[in-house]
Amino acid sequence: MDTDVIVVGAGPTGLMLAAELALGGASALVVEALPERSGQSKALGVQPRTAEVLELRGLLEPLLTGGVQRVPGGHFAGMRLDFTAWDTAHPYMIGTPQSKVEPVLEGRVRELGVRVLRGQPLVELWQDDTGVSARLGDGAVLRGAWLAGCDGGRSTVRTLLGVDFPGLEGRQAMAVADIRLAGRVGARWRLPEMTPSPAGRAYLTPLEGGVHRILFYGPEQQDLPREAPVTEQEVGRALMLLPEPEARLESIVWASRFSDASRQVEDYRHGRVLLAGDAAHIHSPMGGQGLNLGVQDSFNLGWKLAAQVRGHAPAHLLDTYHAERHPVAARVLANTRAQSLLLVAQEEHLALREIVAGLLAVPEANAVIAGMISGLDIHYELPGPAHPLLGRRLPGASALPDRRGALLGAGSELRTLAGQWGSRGAVPQEAGQETANEAVLVRPDGYVAWAGHREQDLAEALHHWFGPPA
Ligand SMILES: Cc1cc2nc3c(=O)[nH]c(=O)nc-3n(C[C@H](O)[C@H](O)[C@H](O)COP(=O)(O)OP(=O)(O)OC[C@H]3O[C@@H](n4cnc5c(N)ncnc54)[C@H](O)[C@@H]3O)c2cc1C
Repeated sequence: MDTDVIVVGAGPTGLMLAAELALGGASALVVEALPERSGQSKALGVQPRTAEVLELRGLLEPLLTGGVQRVPGGHFAGMRLDFTAWDTAHPYMIGTPQSKVEPVLEGRVRELGVRVLRGQPLVELWQDDTGVSARLGDGAVLRGAWLAGCDGGRSTVRTLLGVDFPGLEGRQAMAVADIRLAGRVGARWRLPEMTPSPAGRAYLTPLEGGVHRILFYGPEQQDLPREAPVTEQEVGRALMLLPEPEARLESIVWASRFSDASRQVEDYRHGRVLLAGDAAHIHSPMGGQGLNLGVQDSFNLGWKLAAQVRGHAPAHLLDTYHAERHPVAARVLANTRAQSLLLVAQEEHLALREIVAGLLAVPEANAVIAGMISGLDIHYELPGPAHPLLGRRLPGASALPDRRGALLGAGSELRTLAGQWGSRGAVPQEAGQETANEAVLVRPDGYVAWAGHREQDLAEALHHWFGPPA
């Protein structure tokens, strides 16, 4: 074997997975088609739950340096959301581009000694009972015990597996361009506005270093093929749709086309191959959730796959990745479909939009949707005695052990019990104050696996998540 896990794709999902695997004690090798990072930023924002996840691994601070915008709250189809209804240290969107997130993750991957092979596309794969073989562009064949397809929306891994990608065709073709402008520019971050306009719509957002992002759609974009380059003339026409049309195009930094198509694979696992991030699900970028979803897929998968590799994983553990993460992405697909309808509003949708806006003015309703968009409301269906925290994130946790769970607030008897798993390095050893009546077992991905005080229940939870004691 060349490695325990071949990770295909060095986007945010693949890099996060490689880091988590290494922390969990598995070896990983990342293969990436591009010879160097593109520097492009599809995503511009990190949501509150991703901020918490990054903080758990000490990766948030580097992202918060350098004049990053903290956009208060988020939005649902351009209608403001207030994240402060949720108990989090980060009730805001971090306005940081994907081009800044990826180097932070890659830095961690390299620190952990994981190799990233650039300019090496995966072109062929085959698997048997013991592992997966991957042929790269130069003909070399790598062998790993497992392979993770983190190679984006047009995933080669998914295609080579012959896996369907069912969902909805895009109904609205859009274009995005990061541009330099001459002339007076009145751009500031603001919510997308939505009045139907036959000529189309454009939004301008300031980025770092004098660059602006323009996102636009209209009749012209519907007729152009996806591969057609976004031209200066096309961007120039889009600028005329802005409320401040005196901005003139100087140059295009990069540009691309996308749509509101939404698709999701039916199974995240195919033998020894797993799919994560955009390779497993795509949706409209409205609401800024795709990068966040991929990073959190990897946070869920990493410790489980590492435990599997190291031989500690209970038989069912790896399959909980699909069971837990598929419904999370399905919800995002649903909320982005709803947002597309409300955003790209036709005349007849405006009444619906008005009603939703009225509901979002009610704090309780706002909190529900804020929880959905921020990822703070994620609730995995986990076995064990009912408890309000079971399957949810632990609010206020800012650092947790990576490969082990954490037993917080436990009395000495519970700690002694958990210690039986600790000697094998796969389970909890941390403890809070000895006198606490109730203890909480937190998984390495920050979700509560058990909460209570009964020794028997804790023993069952430890068995369930970490296998028998050493
Ligand atoms: C206009 C736009 C705006 C967006 N805004 C946001 C936002 O604000 N917030 C948000 O959360 N998300 C946003 N997204 C979505 C976000 O960019 C994606 O969800 C995210 O990039 C997915 O990460 P990934 O690692 O799964 O895939 P990718 O970022 O696509 O990375 C896949 C990697 O795999 C590599 N690869 C492909 N094929 C192969 C192969 N055969 N062999 C080896 N490597 C291969 C690629 O080169 C690439 O580096 C936006 C998307 C768009 C289009």
